[in-house]
Amino acid sequence: MSIEDRAKRLDVKKDYETQKRVAFTVKDKERKTKHSVFYSKDKKEWFCDCKWYATRFNSTKRHCAHVTAAKNRS
Ligand SMILES: [Zn+2]
Repeated sequence: MSIEDRAKRLDVKKDYETQKRVAFTVKDKERKTKHSVFYSKDKKEWFCDCKWYATRFNSTKRHCAHVTAAKNRS
C-alpha cells in the first residue's frame, strides 16, 4: 500500500495552532497506533514522532503516512 493510500485511512485531529506551529494527533485504527505530528511555520517543516520518521526521513526525504495525512487535511 502506498503512503498516500495509508494516509487516507488515518484519523487526523488538529490539536492546536499557534503563530509558530500547528499540532495534530494522527490515529491509525487498524494498527492501534497514535502519533503526534507538528508543522513548524518558521522552518516550513513537518515532524512526526514515529519510528519511520526518525530513521528514514533523512535518507528518503519522504514523509510518513502520518504527516501526509495531516497535510491532506490542513
Ligand atoms: Zn509518522
